[in-house]
Amino acid sequence: MTNSLIPMATNPLEQPLVQPLVQVTWFKTGYCTHPEAITLRGGRWQTIQFPALFALIQHPTIGNILFDTGYSERFFRETQHFPNRFYALITPVYLKPEENAVQQLQQQSVPPESIRYILISHFHADHIAGLADFPQAEYICAQSAYGAVKHQKGLRALKAGFLAGLLPPDFEKRLRFVEQSPSVPALPGWFEQGFDLFGDRSLIAIELPGHAPGQLGLLLTDTHHQTYFLVADACWSSRAYQELVAPHPIAQLIFADSATYQTTLKKLHSLHQAHPEIQIIPTHCAVFWREQSPTHSGQPL
Ligand SMILES: [Zn+2]
Repeated sequence: MTNSLIPMATNPLEQPLVQPLVQVTWFKTGYCTHPEAITLRGGRWQTIQFPALFALIQHPTIGNILFDTGYSERFFRETQHFPNRFYALITPVYLKPEENAVQQLQQQSVPPESIRYILISHFHADHIAGLADFPQAEYICAQSAYGAVKHQKGLRALKAGFLAGLLPPDFEKRLRFVEQSPSVPALPGWFEQGFDLFGDRSLIAIELPGHAPGQLGLLLTDTHHQTYFLVADACWSSRAYQELVAPHPIAQLIFADSATYQTTLKKLHSLHQAHPEIQIIPTHCAVFWREQSPTHSGQPL
């Protein structure tokens, strides 16, 4: 169906590559609240909930991989004191202890040691708070994403949405940059370049600039032949890319590059119009989660 969008590697010495299909399961690790009008221009001023989702991806030969980890109780520990306390005041977080990634995965018989890789879309706290709970995982992110936060401290780190205490002490030893993976065509016409994480076309990381430095999305096709494009915070709701609605200018103050954010959002809108069969998943989309939650673990909103 959508595989025509994803050209196969052409090495005449090798057999044609058959792209392995993966299983994907979605989880919600609590939520934060914001007025809708901040996240969608023209929206209501009513406070609404934004789920923090992550995905378990099960690859037939590589094993278990996570796309982000959502919140964990570590977020509360790291925001007890000022200046980090501002983070918790600006984005009030609601998370039950059993809702963190590691516990939800254990409930699904997925032990933490079985997670081999975690793709970090970007370093905002609601995406990395569970990283330290997976002792065998290798971390993958864009070099520019880590470079932008690694030396940040105090208010500058806070402004970047980065809480250094969320990273495990051996983070750098377990880190590899996505740029070390082969560069391949991704979604020609929209997102030209991607990184083939395991050299088999099953998981293609694609840069989605604007929201945070080096933000990565992930393109994959599951065992039901459904193609998903996980877009992290390139937009905060399905309505945003479907109807091309940007957040309120206030929210854009926290973006790394507001003009680039708009360009990325326009590309997602155009991709959706041309290829509605590709399911685009923003990490904080409550509508998507409501559609998923009857069949998956976690609490519906
Ligand atoms: Zn973010």
